Amino acid sequence: MIPHSKILVFALCVLFGLLQITPARAAAPFSFDTAPGRLPKDVVPEDYNIAIIPNTKDLSIAGTETVKLEFRKATDTIQFNSLNEKLAEVTLDGKPVKSVASDDEAQLTTITLEKPAAAGRHTLRFTYTGVIETKPQGLFAQSFVKPGGGKDVLLSTQFEATDARRMFPCWDEPAFRATYTLTVTVPSEWKVVGNMPIKHSARHGDNTTTTFQRSPKMPSYLVEFSAGDLARISDHVGKTEVGVWTVRGQEQSGSNALANAKIILADYNEYFGLPFPLPKLDSLAVPGGYTGAMENWGAITYNDQNLLVTPASTLETKQRVFSIQAHEMAHQWNGDLVTMGWWDDIWLNESFASWRAAKETDLRHPEWKWWEGEDGSKERAMDADGQPNSHAIEQHVTNELQAASSFDSRITYNKGQAVLRMIEAYLGPDTFRDGVRAYLKAHAYGNATSADLWNGLSKASGRDVGAIVSGWTEQIGFPLVSVSASRDVGGYRTITLSQKRFLLQGTDTANPHWNIPLQIRSGASGTPQPVLLTHDGQTVRAGRWDEPLSVNADAVGFYRVLYDEPTLQLNAKAFGTLSDGDRIALLDDQWALVQSGAQELPTYLALASSMGSNLDERAWTQILGALSEIEYAERDTPGHDAFCAYACTIIKPVAKRLGWDANADETPGIQKIRRAVLSDLGNWGDEKVIAEARQRFAGFQKDRSAIRPDDQAMILGIVAQNADDSTFQELHQVAKSARDETELRRFYSALMLVRDPKLAEQAVQIALSDEIPAQAAAIRLSLISRLSNWHPSLGWSTFTDHNDILMKPLSNFAPQIMARSVPEDFWNAAPLEQIEAWLKAHVSEEMAPELARGMDAARFRVALKKVLVPAADSYVHGWSPAERAPELLRELNR
Ligand SMILES: [Zn+2]
Repeated sequence: MIPHSKILVFALCVLFGLLQITPARAAAPFSFDTAPGRLPKDVVPEDYNIAIIPNTKDLSIAGTETVKLEFRKATDTIQFNSLNEKLAEVTLDGKPVKSVASDDEAQLTTITLEKPAAAGRHTLRFTYTGVIETKPQGLFAQSFVKPGGGKDVLLSTQFEATDARRMFPCWDEPAFRATYTLTVTVPSEWKVVGNMPIKHSARHGDNTTTTFQRSPKMPSYLVEFSAGDLARISDHVGKTEVGVWTVRGQEQSGSNALANAKIILADYNEYFGLPFPLPKLDSLAVPGGYTGAMENWGAITYNDQNLLVTPASTLETKQRVFSIQAHEMAHQWNGDLVTMGWWDDIWLNESFASWRAAKETDLRHPEWKWWEGEDGSKERAMDADGQPNSHAIEQHVTNELQAASSFDSRITYNKGQAVLRMIEAYLGPDTFRDGVRAYLKAHAYGNATSADLWNGLSKASGRDVGAIVSGWTEQIGFPLVSVSASRDVGGYRTITLSQKRFLLQGTDTANPHWNIPLQIRSGASGTPQPVLLTHDGQTVRAGRWDEPLSVNADAVGFYRVLYDEPTLQLNAKAFGTLSDGDRIALLDDQWALVQSGAQELPTYLALASSMGSNLDERAWTQILGALSEIEYAERDTPGHDAFCAYACTIIKPVAKRLGWDANADETPGIQKIRRAVLSDLGNWGDEKVIAEARQRFAGFQKDRSAIRPDDQAMILGIVAQNADDSTFQELHQVAKSARDETELRRFYSALMLVRDPKLAEQAVQIALSDEIPAQAAAIRLSLISRLSNWHPSLGWSTFTDHNDILMKPLSNFAPQIMARSVPEDFWNAAPLEQIEAWLKAHVSEEMAPELARGMDAARFRVALKKVLVPAADSYVHGWSPAERAPELLRELNR
């Protein structure tokens, strides 16, 4: 017998003995002079003084701006960004300039001087008029319904990526870091918030002028200003004042966020090794505005639904609030203190914040099993990255106007996060943290590129991290690792490994290569061994011949694994005893291999069937997702009902074990499984479940406390799917009586699940009506997308007929949603050529690569449907509920 420690020693020998790493390619450390961008680098802003008077009546801005400039050489031209602004009284060092030309098309202002100004310090000064936006780009006015009723308006900002220039003319590229002093004049009854604490304010008549303290050096996209009838709750973490701002009357709903912020800030101060550098850190709950959150330094803005927790909130809301706060607060270091040099490296901000947030959420809420849940986001990234037209994590952005489209949640956020986690696991968490600390320290108040991060990690680990990782950030796609096992003397196992790009459809003739940090576990438990796979044919000793094997232990790696038949049989036989992470990795890979045509559907269904009443949440989410995909493909085919009956038998053992009501000691994961299986049973026609849901809904109509907030979406959803006219009207009444936006979103979303076609038309009218208040306008699109689950062509016609009203609230993300998400959402609604033609006519030329990706995914769904339906039908045909699954497992194990 070889003890586990020996296996590890052997593995490390393989690692260092055979290291043949492909060298790093393009990435170079940050340099201001060579950082991409449109603006000339010879005139550099050092300090801004900006005073604005916003007028919400006529949506105008009156501004005065003084910028201290460093001329790096003598020049007669000053160029910077502006949009919808008119400059006047322009002087340099107090002297009028020769000419000023603002070009809104190019978003540039060019100032020409009478004669070249010498190298050195100069002061530019001007007044200007600008525009307050009504959507979240630049300084925007947001109307909203107040907590107690009645309409109001507030001001807030959203600048990333390129919209600071809409509030004030500036060098609006991330490499131009400068200090900012902001002065604002607003009605005296309003509160004002900026990046920094207030320095002084003076009331004059109905208005008050407030000046905030000067900020540290930072990029323009992180400047923040909000004003309105707001209120704050606050506390301290060390010297930092931590605050949560809400619309007045909602302060208590922010107390959960304040408690979270204190915990996260203390953890990050320690982890990053540099305490939060500003005197205060505020979080603002903005009603409406946008769908996400923005990491403005010292003044993070959130859509209020991502920050407030009310008595109506569910566990999912609390989880979302914590994890989004953890993400935005991680940006205070990675993004704000150290900023990517150019938008190519936006992943440095986003992947890093996503990875750090997941780590923090897992640390502070182990009961949420956060990394298991994050496996779902990794799978979404792999779905996107398994398509031929995917893109690399680092993608070239030639001008900053394309920057908004580089925020691709699946690649920039989820894949990047997964790659960082894989590297952290490979280097070890302490070494990785030391590398991050070194990187932040070296670039604090400055800019960086991927190469700078790799250098920090290399310094800490003593390895050439760039050489290992660059293939993951610079190449598109990810590998499929093939495993072939052979038996050694004494019953031990040697595996031979090789790789090729994994694709759901098509082939890649370029034959790309990755240095793959594997985690290999032999047996159902034990510490995995790290192995770097550098070349095809590499061999590794891996435990006993008769033990199960995971080459992606705990599902940490961003790659898939294809086991040879005997190893797959071993794994299937031991399926029930595998660790949760190894079981998840196997389910993920087997399903993806079915989708790609490399495995037959029954091999996957046999695994799913052998879950029995095991209660791992992520495994069930994976299985329910796969079954739902088959069920969706089966709709309108003769085999649909038989498949539903089959799918019900897979999940019924769990439903039976869990019942309808939560026990006091249940984990959140078990409660989620209960809701998910009941929801699908109702969806797939289980009469008992539908009857129970109806009965519970009847009780809920009389007493709103009869169903816990966590269970409301599930129960109302089942009722809506099976609703007749009078039930639909009852559901509508419930929606109209929502007490806050949390309830409103939940109830209106349930309404959209109605299956009856006539009622679906009523649902569309409701989704488009004023019943959805201004601050929730962004949910209209998701309501229509939900409705199209049962009514694809009605969803598509609604989307095309009412495109403006649906897309406007999504502002700068709208083009990407149109090009990328719409084909994936509506692939079943109309012929693909028709969908593509409509989208081509409605998105800009710059979105063509995104549209190609969206259409790739849509074509894949259509092709997959053609494969899944006959495969599922032939499997279900002749299948007998009690015997078929074990029999299949036996077949697989033969
Ligand atoms: Zn972010």
